[in-house]
Amino acid sequence: MHFRYDEIIAQISERPTWWFNGVPRYGAFDPAIVGSFEIALVHTECRECRTRYDVAIGPQPPSFASLRDVISFENRLNIGDPPFACAEMGARCSGGYCMTSLEIRVLEFWTKDGRISNAWRRDANWERPLIHANWDSDAPDDEGVWGRILDSDRIEEWSQARRDGDFPTMVAILKEVDCERPSEVAHMVDVERRYQLLRAEISAMRSDRFDEN
Ligand SMILES: [Zn+2]
Repeated sequence: MHFRYDEIIAQISERPTWWFNGVPRYGAFDPAIVGSFEIALVHTECRECRTRYDVAIGPQPPSFASLRDVISFENRLNIGDPPFACAEMGARCSGGYCMTSLEIRVLEFWTKDGRISNAWRRDANWERPLIHANWDSDAPDDEGVWGRILDSDRIEEWSQARRDGDFPTMVAILKEVDCERPSEVAHMVDVERRYQLLRAEISAMRSDRFDEN
């Protein structure tokens, strides 16, 4: 759930044009305002009242995985809750602020390769429909590569490889389902597993040191 900015929005006569971490922004979107090394501007909607929010998102902690790898795996960017502003945008909405957003489409995708240039470059290859693009039709969500693995007979093998950190098997399965970035996605998935292990280890260490059981 994001903070509310209702008293700020009420002071400004223009409607916000885009959002970042739940904060309303005014004027044209500019990746330099919020950028790290990648930024996507995403057409999202409140799941409850369908208010549209164009939300900017960059790589997320703790791993700061490339947005290209995240899209390549699940065809979504895990935007999370919508801005807490449906009422200010004129909608009657109950509870949408704590439901995850619908992710409709990447509107703009910007990258910066610091090794070559510090300038932002727009990459239309990643401007595409996302998981909930067909929300209004009977078509199922397009869960991308992850959906194709789920529907395949390799799902058990994938789950085992993921648990074991079996990088070659994950890469092979990702190639089989036509993943655009098989090595990078397998690496991202394995890094997520390692973070989970680290969190569990730290939690156990704390319990042990402070006798919190
Ligand atoms: Zn809403």
